[in-house]
Amino acid sequence: MSDEWGFDTAQVHAGAAPDAATNARATPIYATSSFVYESADQAAASFLLEDLDSYAYSRMGNPTTSVAEQRIARLEGGVKAVATASGQAATALSLLNLLRSGDHVVAATEVYGGTTNLLGQRFAEIGIGLTTVPVGDLDAWRAAIRPGTRAFFTESVGNPTGIVADLEAIAAIAHEDADVPLIVDNTLATPYLLRPLEHGADVVVHSTTKFLSGHGTAIGGAIVDGATFDFGSRPERWPGFTTPDVGHGEGGYWERFSPSRQAYSRRLRSTVLRDYGPAPSPFNSFLLIQGLETLSLRMRQHVANAQAIVEHLLAHPQVERVHYPTLPGTPWEATARRLLPRGGGAIVSFDIVGGQEAGRRFVDALGLFSHLANIGDVRSLVIHPASTTNSSQTPAQRGAAGIGEGLIRLSIGIEDAADLTADLDRAFSAVRGS
Ligand SMILES: *Cc1c(COP(=O)(O)O)cnc(C)c1O
Repeated sequence: MSDEWGFDTAQVHAGAAPDAATNARATPIYATSSFVYESADQAAASFLLEDLDSYAYSRMGNPTTSVAEQRIARLEGGVKAVATASGQAATALSLLNLLRSGDHVVAATEVYGGTTNLLGQRFAEIGIGLTTVPVGDLDAWRAAIRPGTRAFFTESVGNPTGIVADLEAIAAIAHEDADVPLIVDNTLATPYLLRPLEHGADVVVHSTTKFLSGHGTAIGGAIVDGATFDFGSRPERWPGFTTPDVGHGEGGYWERFSPSRQAYSRRLRSTVLRDYGPAPSPFNSFLLIQGLETLSLRMRQHVANAQAIVEHLLAHPQVERVHYPTLPGTPWEATARRLLPRGGGAIVSFDIVGGQEAGRRFVDALGLFSHLANIGDVRSLVIHPASTTNSSQTPAQRGAAGIGEGLIRLSIGIEDAADLTADLDRAFSAVRGS
């Protein structure tokens, strides 16, 4: 039945049922570190990955977290999802499940700053190479492939300039030229606006901290596997999947779990999540479930408000330029029309007349918008990247990333659009008057 549900039904029901022990209708918070084995045989089967249905220890799985995982997998159209303690952990684990020292990743230049730090600095420290390429330059993706390349990584919709990745084209290069999986960070779009697995991605990662939760109360992440990548065709390239794992019984993950389409997700849970350890708290999983239930309602309001703000800004004399994924005239216009028929999401950026000084004064003058580094909250948020998130770069480096000195990034919330435009106008006049 759940396979046929529409998005709005699945976001409320997928993965959940009245609690087997109490008939509680909402998903309870299973605040327990561990679960009692039924017998010595069942305990042994659990360690050998022969019993995959029982819970053992909340670092590897928890019933509250499992509901969130099943629901996110269903909304993304994936086979399985694994939840993590943060979006950063989701990105790290999605790649560490594939890579070992000496391997290499090709990633879009425009990805989230935390991803750049992880791939460019932390992974370099453990011998994993990185080449970054402008997301829209398909020849650069192709040219970046090396013999050791084992993953492609991009965001579906980028931040703060609203760039949209041509997922089909990048997936074709990943699969045909490099023979590696494509991992897509879908945090900004959410599965309501775009499902990367339907456009060639093999794995999707999320910072659930943002729109999937929406309330801005819980850090979290998720990795969704579409089970589309064939780790068996060139077994020598994927020893983690094709050779047995210490303590987990006979056979590699590919041999044992590809028939049930769980090779990647099972290895993820039973090795990298187990051993690096960034499991989510069941309390945070409960909060994530509360957010997921209203995702489509919030996204519809985010998009409607963002469009109203975009139009307002386009007509404003103190605005040099507006950045939004679905605006006409961008290099990715045709891609956005194809991938984002429901709209471009909630992140709107613009260049204010007057550069860095005007940008700082504008942010100080806003009242309803909260000045902070997060996105994807029901509340409207603002930041001036040149003086905050990107202040360690030179103006030239910022310029290369599309971040002008007067760029203001807005994460449009679900308030009344008229109250948001009034707040923006108040700040514009404060900048003008000073
Ligand atoms: C916030 C964010 C992350 C990191 O997620 P955390 O939950 O903050 O660890 C990764 N990717 C994107 C696109 C983000 O916006």
